[in-house]
Amino acid sequence: MRALILSDIHSNLEALTAVIDDATERGGFDSLWCLGDTVGYGPDPGPCIKLLRQHNALPVLGNHDYVAIGKASAEDFNYAAKAAIEWTANNLSPEDAKYLSGLPTVIKAEPFTLVHGTLRDHVNEYLLERDTALATLDLLETRYCAVGHTHLPFICREDGNKTTFIEFAEDREYNLDEERLIINPGSVGQPRDRNPRPSYALYDSLESTIQRHRVEYRIQETQEKMRDVHLPEYLIDRLNQGI
Ligand code: ZN
Repeated sequence: MRALILSDIHSNLEALTAVIDDATERGGFDSLWCLGDTVGYGPDPGPCIKLLRQHNALPVLGNHDYVAIGKASAEDFNYAAKAAIEWTANNLSPEDAKYLSGLPTVIKAEPFTLVHGTLRDHVNEYLLERDTALATLDLLETRYCAVGHTHLPFICREDGNKTTFIEFAEDREYNLDEERLIINPGSVGQPRDRNPRPSYALYDSLESTIQRHRVEYRIQETQEKMRDVHLPEYLIDRLNQGI
């Protein structure tokens, strides 16, 4: 079984399409696992949801999805994120809102557990350092965990009662073994590691390997659509910089 693991699409249809095309060219996938924040920031919430549904994706709910469907307030969002999520909420069809409302916040897809934030706080907490990693490993019932939310790729290894964060390098094959670990595939629609190219991972259960890849996409097309619907200029610019 091969799984395409991706996160933080953020309504960026061109980026999502480029990732799916690239994964298809690299041998394809049987399952598509999405780690949340399908919507927010970008101009195409509906078409991104449609594409995920066409691929029978297993998505979990992210914090932007949560606010877009009115289950949480945007009070912790900065002005640009707030403006974008209000636009998103007003531009989701009733069917898309219903789809997002039905998503779980955590899914077991053996041997992975999928969650947006952490296993302690599924939707909002950022997994960036030792304490949050240890808390998630404490609660982890499968061998591996896949998280999103930070838009930063990494592999975190359990190391006794410590954790070690290592680089999840591009185009390198990592062998997965008995060791428990947490991975973040990076972001599709708004990378924040100073590289604007969408990032994703391919997991192969037969080979027990995982690889991370990046793709080029038609970024200007996304930016033009954002301008057309008056999304904040700051959000349009940051796509170029990968921040
Ligand atoms: Zn996000």
